[in-house]
Amino acid sequence: SSFQDLFVQVYTILKARMLIKKLHFRAYMALRKGSKVWVEDKDSAWVEAEVIGFVGKQVQVLTLSGKKVLTVPEKLQPCDGESDLGGVDDMTKLTYLNEPGVLDNLRRRYTLNEIYTYTGSILIAVNPFTKLPHLYNMHMMEQYKGAPFGELSPHVFAVADASYRAMTSEGRSQSILVSGESGAGKTETTKLIMQYLTYVGGRASGDDRTVEQQVLESNPLLEAFGNARTVRNDNSRYCMDLLTFVLLVSVNDSSNNRFGKFVEIQFDSNGRISGAAIRTYLLERSRVVQITDPERNYHIFYQLCASGTDAETYKLGHPRNFHYLNQSRTYELDGVSNAEEYIKTRRAMDIVGISDDEQEAIFRTLAGILHLGNVEFSPGKEHDSSVIKDPKSEFHLQMAADLFRCDFNLLVATLTTRSIQTREGIIVKALDCNAAVAGRDALAKTVYARLFDCMFPKSTHETFSNKLFQNFRSHRRLEKAKFSETDFIISHYAGKQQLQALMETLSSTEPHYVRCVKPNSLNKPHRFENPSILHQLRCGGVLEAVRISLAGYPTRKTYHEFVDRFGIIALDIVDTSYDDKTMTEKILQRLKLGNFQLGKTKVFLRAGQIAILDSRRAEV
Ligand code: ATP
Repeated sequence: SSFQDLFVQVYTILKARMLIKKLHFRAYMALRKGSKVWVEDKDSAWVEAEVIGFVGKQVQVLTLSGKKVLTVPEKLQPCDGESDLGGVDDMTKLTYLNEPGVLDNLRRRYTLNEIYTYTGSILIAVNPFTKLPHLYNMHMMEQYKGAPFGELSPHVFAVADASYRAMTSEGRSQSILVSGESGAGKTETTKLIMQYLTYVGGRASGDDRTVEQQVLESNPLLEAFGNARTVRNDNSRYCMDLLTFVLLVSVNDSSNNRFGKFVEIQFDSNGRISGAAIRTYLLERSRVVQITDPERNYHIFYQLCASGTDAETYKLGHPRNFHYLNQSRTYELDGVSNAEEYIKTRRAMDIVGISDDEQEAIFRTLAGILHLGNVEFSPGKEHDSSVIKDPKSEFHLQMAADLFRCDFNLLVATLTTRSIQTREGIIVKALDCNAAVAGRDALAKTVYARLFDCMFPKSTHETFSNKLFQNFRSHRRLEKAKFSETDFIISHYAGKQQLQALMETLSSTEPHYVRCVKPNSLNKPHRFENPSILHQLRCGGVLEAVRISLAGYPTRKTYHEFVDRFGIIALDIVDTSYDDKTMTEKILQRLKLGNFQLGKTKVFLRAGQIAILDSRRAEV
């Protein structure tokens, strides 16, 4: 059946494309002198212009900035010269639902700090790069609670509320997919969604901190490590019929797939939060050992370097002293204090229940990674062999060995030689400098990735598996292996099957989408860079969604709006005895436009029909 689904989808898209081509052609036919159009522009992507004449098959247009351009109709898109200055809150309300129209609408709204806009059910969020506290206070959450979707201004709370309502009323797990390129606002959006969900689904707190608090407060941890994994669940409250709310945060720019975060919030059948998990997938491990300006390594390293006494204990100093950090000269983030963040991370670790000893072990290991990165090699006496380069490298290696709590000589041997098991026994082969550096980096990456190991107290296989089954007998992720007392199976997302499992979880949920858009590369407020935004909208599938809705009835106007705008075409039949709906029908019939739909309060028009109406209106 999935093949059938696929077939139907492909067929629908192809049909839509054919229809769009036809419709575009019709729209061009409606071009006349004075028509408002969008014309392609290499700097601004699209600029507004007016048709001033026709030269053979070409059209001459005058742009708003006073430039005359001769172009082919295919390079033009119809433009609504009268669109509302403040834009529309849903792209489907645009008179002309096309690429420049979508972009222009986002720009108009962004100018007014209206950062959210719907495209049907997709929420587009343009990063304001400035604090907008009035958007996210308690009053706002109250407003959106239970409000029908689309009734209030577009908002991330509206998406969260709609998903929460669907979950509680239909009993179906939901997911909100938050995507966008680096810096587009995914993390902030996820925090806001979590804030809202904990508001509507939080349970009254007893003496202990609530789970939702713990999830929210664990955010610094998640952010600091990039791959921080914090699993919190209140075992006693685990129900069999848990509903899951999945927030999938993904980076959608394939050239920048550092990692994705996966937040799972579990609700009980009363719609109350009962547990949560945060994990990451496709972690870009190479970032630990390799960075380029102006990027940074994982925040936690800079925090540790700024941690004062801890940094002294581990003989760390300024990040510029460490190879894994000084490949980029960016050490600080604007408005962020590494030292303060370190304190927040430690507090988050306390909150999620990482003990002092464990915390010490984590930071000790992180410091070890930094020292390891400073170990350099020089060619050894034997051909293709290597030795530790100098006393400085030896110092760092000694530090790494101490911090990893391993034997110095063993670490040297591990880095400079490779043991190969043969039938005759073990052969030790020397490694040249390049291979030793590669080995050093591989070790650093692995240690970082396993820092959280994906921390159980010491126990035998038996006691450990017994404990697991005692505590998590009915947990849906835990299974007993068939032929062994001590083996167990945990269905989780780790190991390269990550994505497949993720997809399985997702496919069992009803998805909602938030596309985050980064409006400029300078991370500054009030700057709207057309070409890059257009690129993000294309990548993020927003324009594809727009295109598909073009195949339906993209223009919707209330009867009143319609008569207001087009009544002039049929002045002779403007008669007070007709209601707006009848008037609308008569106007459309007069223009011999078929294939529209008359709804209860609105008329639904095919793409291109509005261009014909506008053109006729301009002739009157
Ligand atoms: P990455 O993929 O690199 O982790 P991201 O998409 O998660 O990036 P964020 O960290 O969420 O991006 O956002 C980057 C910055 O943009 C934030 O630190 C914040 O300053 C600003 N920002 C994002 N969303 C908002 C918002 N809704 N209101 C105010 N500022 C925001």
